[in-house]
Amino acid sequence: MVRVAVEPGYIALYRSGELERRAEALEARLRSCDICPRQCGVNRLNGELGFCRSAHLPIVAAVCAHHGEEPAISGTMGSGTVFFANCNMRCVYCQNHQISQEYKNQKAGEVDPHALAGRMLYLQGELGCHNINFVSPSHFVPQMVRAVLEAVPLGLHLPLVYNTSSYDSLDSLRELGGIISVYLADLRYADNRYGKKFSEASDYVAHARAAIREMYRQVGDLVVDDEGIARKGLIVRHLILPNRLAGSRDSLGWLVRELSPTVTVSIMSQYYPAHRAPQIPLLARRITGKEYSEVIELLDELGIENGWMQEAGASESYLPDFTRKGHPFDSVVGKSG
Ligand code: SF4
Repeated sequence: MVRVAVEPGYIALYRSGELERRAEALEARLRSCDICPRQCGVNRLNGELGFCRSAHLPIVAAVCAHHGEEPAISGTMGSGTVFFANCNMRCVYCQNHQISQEYKNQKAGEVDPHALAGRMLYLQGELGCHNINFVSPSHFVPQMVRAVLEAVPLGLHLPLVYNTSSYDSLDSLRELGGIISVYLADLRYADNRYGKKFSEASDYVAHARAAIREMYRQVGDLVVDDEGIARKGLIVRHLILPNRLAGSRDSLGWLVRELSPTVTVSIMSQYYPAHRAPQIPLLARRITGKEYSEVIELLDELGIENGWMQEAGASESYLPDFTRKGHPFDSVVGKSG
């Protein structure tokens, strides 16, 4: 990992007027929504709802300093995490299902972009976080960019992290070039049968791979500052699923072959059968030691050079509870925002 200090690109884009142009271009697409690969075509500006059950205003479920992300993201002061509500996926094992799948309860979290900008400034100024980390942003890209536009004149200067399932539209991602500093991108499946069965995304593999390729084109390998905190770059997250459902060999092989062995990879062992997974035999248990060690050995075999591995058996401390109101994680990984 290279060490360097870099001013986030959105500040120059703000000065040139390009940030405003991007916000307007993205918002115009809400009229017949194609913000993510689902291309629902609904008019979100009129309150119509598509697959993500989200209209015009951003919905924020929680804002906090998160200490459980990768070391280069959480650092010592935490990652300034903005959890968007609702989702453009339907993962049956989603650990955030309280906010991602129960959309009727989320309406109360609607905020205007100016209020969201205020929360970002709070994470930066009051909590001293290292970055602003947008979780599940794929269906709220226009709203996110508008909020950044509002936040820059108020003094926002932290790097922005786009923390995504990677079920993203290439057209939306291209508008984020120079705005997002760090992409924290899941690589969930290598087989569309599982994307369909477990996330209602039957075309996940092609979209996620194209999205990750675009992210890498924009930001390249991970760059950290003198404190080891991410300033720029791509981190690919791979959650090991039971029964090899994540297709680790295929996915990580693709990454090395099509991108580079220098891409930073974060191997996650925290899978826990949340939400509907206890009723689904293939997903109803945590991963075994054997399943974990197979993936760790794969890293060596494929020559993956950079990244992190959660210890075997990591799970409960990473499980959020969004009924805690602003404290979705326990004290090990979260601090109130
Ligand atoms: S962002 Fe929502 S409404 Fe728009 S295409 Fe995706 S799922 Fe459909």
